[in-house]
Parts: sequence; C-alpha cells; structure tokens
Amino acid sequence: SRFLASVKALDDTVPTPNRVQDRRNEHISLHTDGFANTPDTDPSTEGNREWGRLALSRSTYTQLGLDTIDAGHIYGPASLETLVRQTREAGARWAARGADVRAWILHQAGAAIAARRGELVSVMAAETGKTIAEADVEVSEAIDFAHYYAESARRLEVVDGAVFEPAHLTVVTPPWNFPVAIPAGSVLAALAAGSGVVIKPAPQSPRCAAVMIEALWRAGVPRDVLRLVSMPEGALSQSLVAHPGVDRVILTGGWETAKLFRSWRNDLPLLAETSGKNGIVVTPSADLDHAVADLAKSAFGHAGQKCSAASLGILVGSVGRSERFERQLLDAVSSLVVGWPDDPEVAMGPVIEPPKGKLLEALTVLDESEEDRWLLEPRKLDASGRLWSPGIRIGVRPGSAFHQTEYFGPVLGLMHAKNLDEAIEWQNATDFGLTAGIHSLDPDEVNEWIERVEAGNLYVNRGITGAIVQRQPFGGWKRSSVGATSKAGGPNYLTHLGSWRSRTLRS
Ligand code: GLU
Repeated sequence: SRFLASVKALDDTVPTPNRVQDRRNEHISLHTDGFANTPDTDPSTEGNREWGRLALSRSTYTQLGLDTIDAGHIYGPASLETLVRQTREAGARWAARGADVRAWILHQAGAAIAARRGELVSVMAAETGKTIAEADVEVSEAIDFAHYYAESARRLEVVDGAVFEPAHLTVVTPPWNFPVAIPAGSVLAALAAGSGVVIKPAPQSPRCAAVMIEALWRAGVPRDVLRLVSMPEGALSQSLVAHPGVDRVILTGGWETAKLFRSWRNDLPLLAETSGKNGIVVTPSADLDHAVADLAKSAFGHAGQKCSAASLGILVGSVGRSERFERQLLDAVSSLVVGWPDDPEVAMGPVIEPPKGKLLEALTVLDESEEDRWLLEPRKLDASGRLWSPGIRIGVRPGSAFHQTEYFGPVLGLMHAKNLDEAIEWQNATDFGLTAGIHSLDPDEVNEWIERVEAGNLYVNRGITGAIVQRQPFGGWKRSSVGATSKAGGPNYLTHLGSWRSRTLRS
C-alpha cells in the first residue's frame, strides 16, 4: 500500500548501502596541538581577529597554498578578475576531461576525506563547538556526497538526446552549521558536473573548509579548478557573488541572505537551500516514547542550529493533555548534558556566538500568561554567553512569534491542536517548508498528513534531521529554497549545474 511504501522509504531501519559506517570513532581525538586546533596568533592578521581563536593566519594560508583576498590585500590571484578568468578556463579544461575521469577523482576524494576523519572532527569541534558524535556523522555525509555525485556525473552527459554543458564557474558560499558536509556536497556536485569552483568558506569555520578542500586537492582535483578564497563579508564578497563571469552560485544559509544575493544581481543563477521552521506532529496513536526521543533529538541536536531542526512540537488532542508525555519530554530534555565538545558525555554543545536578535528574545522572554509559558526555562550557563540549557515553551499560540519565527537555537515550542486537521494547518502556517515530521501509528492519519503537508522532506515516525544522501534528497519548499528547486544528494541536483542543449544536424 501507499502507506507502507512511504514508511519504508522514510524508515531509518532500512540498510543504507552508501552510508559510511565503518570507521566510527576510530581515529577521533581532540588534538591539543598540531594543525587541528592550534590558534594562529599572528597579530598582524586582520582577518584573525574577526574570525576568533581558530582563524587561519596569512602564514597558514600561504603554507597551505590557499588564496586569500581581503579588503586591501590579495594573495594568490592578482585580482578578482584574474581569479574568475583563470577558474573559468580551468573549469573548461576540467569539463573536457570527461565524466569518467571526474568520477574516478571524486571517488578518490571520498577516500581522502575518510582518511582525515579524525582531523575533520576535531577541527569542527574546535571551530564551531559541534559535538564529536554530530561531527562524526557529518564526515560520513561528506564522503557519501563524493561517491554519490561521482556516480551521478556518469549519468549526466546525454539525457533523452539533450547534451549537458557544464557551468564553467560555480561559486559556493556554505554555512558554519555543517562546516564540512555542506561545503563538501556543494563543491563535489559542481566538480562532478564539470564546473570550476571558487569556494568562500563561512567566516566562522574556515579551517573546516580548508582541511576538506586540501583533501580534495590531494585526491587529484587540480588546484586551479578548485579555489578556496577567504575574504571578509562586504564589498569584495559581493563582487565575487555578483560577478557576471559566475555561472552558478550555491548558497546554504538564511532566506534573507538569498534575497540579498538577488538584490546584487537579479539574474543570479542561484541554487539556495534556505531557512526552516519545522514541526513534528504527535497524534494520540503514536508510540509516545519514540516521539519524545525524536522530538528532543531533532530540536536540540547541535543546539538547534540546523535548518532541518524541529522547533515546534504540535501535540494532537489527548497528547497535549497528557502529563506523562510532558513529564517524559521534560526528563529527556533536562537530562541532556550541555557543555563543550571536548567532553565526550556532552550531548548539546554551545551556540555559535552569544545569542542576539530574535534568538536572544526567544531565550529570554518572560512568562506572560498561563497559556504561553516555559515548561523548561533556558539558562545561560557560563560567562562565554554561548552555553545555554535547552528551553521548552508550552502553550504556543497559532500566529505568534514562537509559532512562526526561525530562531536557529536551542528552543522548542509546543502547540496543542484539537485534531490532526488543525495540526496540519498550523504546521503549514509558516513561510517555510523544509522538513516536517509526524509520529502516528495510524495509516489513515499518516496518509492524510503526507497529502497535505507543505514541505520538501517528510519524515514518518523518526526524527527530522540528518537527511541521508541518496535516500533523503534534501531541500525545501516555499522560502526554504530560492532559485532552482533542486534536492542536494538527489538525482537531479547536477542537472542544475549547467545548461542543456539539443543539437540537430540536417542530414
Ligand atoms: N541536511 C541537514 C539535515 O538533514 C540539514 C542541513 C542544514 O541545516 O542546512 O539535518
């Protein structure tokens, strides 16, 4: 039946051929010296101060052979113009090598990333505060992207008589929240398609990108085809993103950033995966123990800093009135160990910077009424301002800020719907449509929900984060994507990284 098919497709227990599961935790150590987390203390480096204690200094960039461009200084390429021209030319040569060669190199790249698992995990932990367990699966995702896109490249060149002409130059602007898997996925996709790439890493996590890119170079991706350029946000970044010589821009970030990019160049050929405000519906037929565990993990994994995170639990009918559910959720969430990731017990790490703006408002809002109040009040745990205990707001009203704002932090709102119909309506009543979940053991409920929910990634009876390459191609609806509505890690992603032509010769 349709129900069984969809559950099978979404169920985590189906074995995954491409998920790399072997080397778990084998090579993981948090270095206290060496490249991984030795702060660069070159005081002459302007960028260093901006990026914080793990920033790359100019000397590290030079050692690694990375390009650095900042406001007054350009290292590597003589200018942005040269960078764009050279990478376009190198991209055309890369495309000419053919899909088989590119696929072969990309498989090597997967192996090269795997070989640096321990280093990548420790750099992620040090640079962004990601826990070891979360960083470890992220390396697996990067490896999966390499092998998956390698094979996608081979299928790309001629489809139904139309010929694929790769983009010559793709600019990649990744986020800090998945500082290895997202840059890896975007870069590998563009390379697989046959494009030259300039990647501008997130300012919070340049080392993560640098280690990953270096692995790709060592695996045989030519350095002139794949350029890593660090530059401050501002005029120079704008000149790169909006440069007319850029054929594609792959952005993962906020919807506002996508809008900003478009304002710089209105014909910008953009593939953007953007914001989310995602909910999990729990109906009375659900296995409530599982629902509690999945809600807690989806809401507070990586301190809620995932586009895919659950920030709403929509409790249907008696679930919302059930003291047992409330108590179990409270127990599960308040027992999460919060701390810095050098402690392996830690389940929830810091937020990327001391909260400000909307997130700070959400974390510090007072109880105004009995209806809308803290079930678990978040607290600032140390002087850094980055460690917060998780917060659960209960009685969230439809149409309120807690219902509709993306906070991107460790705060979960609970809503009480009278029936499934109302729950779906509230789940859809946001600007975004990235992930959505339901916990229900009633096939009719699940089928109705699947019909009506407006989101790109649906999950039944499991958490809503951690999409697996190939099995759960990732990308959303509404304001959760901008530009080509493509799914990362899915069969059509590469087709957007070039143009299709059909050629007819009169015979
Ligand atoms: N692909 C990730 C997941 O499924 C989320 C990526 C993001 O936060 O942008 O959890």
